[in-house]
Amino acid sequence: MKIYDSLVIGGGPAGITAVLYLMRAGYSVAWAEQLSPGGQVLLTESIDNYPGFPDGVNGWELVEKMLAHLAHYSPERYNQAVSAIEVGTEQHTVTLETEQLIARTVIICSGATHRKLGLPNEQKLVGRGISYCALCDGNFFKNQDVAVIGGGNSALEEALYLAKLVRKLYLIHRRDVFRGDKVYQDKVLFLADKIEPVLNTVVTSIHGDDVLESLSLCNVQTQEKRELKIDGLFIFVGFEPQGQFLPAGLARDPLGFISTDAEMRTNLSGIYAAGDIRSKLCRQVTTAVGDGATAGHAASIYLEQFHA
Ligand code: NAP
Repeated sequence: MKIYDSLVIGGGPAGITAVLYLMRAGYSVAWAEQLSPGGQVLLTESIDNYPGFPDGVNGWELVEKMLAHLAHYSPERYNQAVSAIEVGTEQHTVTLETEQLIARTVIICSGATHRKLGLPNEQKLVGRGISYCALCDGNFFKNQDVAVIGGGNSALEEALYLAKLVRKLYLIHRRDVFRGDKVYQDKVLFLADKIEPVLNTVVTSIHGDDVLESLSLCNVQTQEKRELKIDGLFIFVGFEPQGQFLPAGLARDPLGFISTDAEMRTNLSGIYAAGDIRSKLCRQVTTAVGDGATAGHAASIYLEQFHA
């Protein structure tokens, strides 16, 4: 059975960059991605903080450029989900949908997925008024009233995108200050005729039988309760790691993100992590690319012992 030098899991910017670095170093690479490459960045209308694009760049466009770069090389691609990693001493077995692969190193770049509020009705009304992606679903709410929940960069950025489409947008945040960058906060304030911040407020229940109808809100300072009729609800309350297949014994932080050192090494020899699934302060395309490059390079150095 073929032994790959590395198996990279995930097709977002971290995975693409790790594959690129390993291929350029001359190693054999298997690349597993359950959907099409790109990851979360495909859902971003404009990335304004990726150096080299002073006017911003569309998520699709950036991924296309990354893939065009990778097209100079030939990783063996597996369009399948990973279900398990069995960690060995010098080689590891990774189970995909229809086969098992063996690799000397594994770089986990499987990213993160949207955190849910965890309220009754939330799951039932997804696609019936509730969404986790403004770019995908914003058009359904043209000239209607929507709410966005969250106070981070995702909530602010997506609210700014939605404000161009909807009639009225309530930006509901549980504290009195937003967590997101000032540049986005300023833009939100500038759109005061469209975006109404609803601060110190949490959603206590979601109403609707077939489609979303309204929210029950509670002000956490005054305990005042109110009902808010809306057509759409966009939830951006952070992310959680996407890695049901992660091996036992892999060190993770309290939220489940993988702990690494500065070289992207995990506590398990030959296993690396990069991008949004890693425990870190700042989850952006820029940092994902940096993580991928570091992981690819660190794995290359580790692999030298097998090619002496
Ligand atoms: P985030 O920064 O973790 O923010 C999550 C927000 O949701 C916080 O405001 C948090 O409130 C709130 N929240 C969490 N759980 C909640 C709950 N159960 N009910 C109500 N509110 C809740 O997540 P994010 O905005 O998705 O961003 C994730 C990472 O991606 C960040 O590092 C961010 O900077 C990055 N990002 C960057 C860009 C960009 O630079 N263009 C765009 C998008 C995302 P508290 O503030 O009270 O904790």
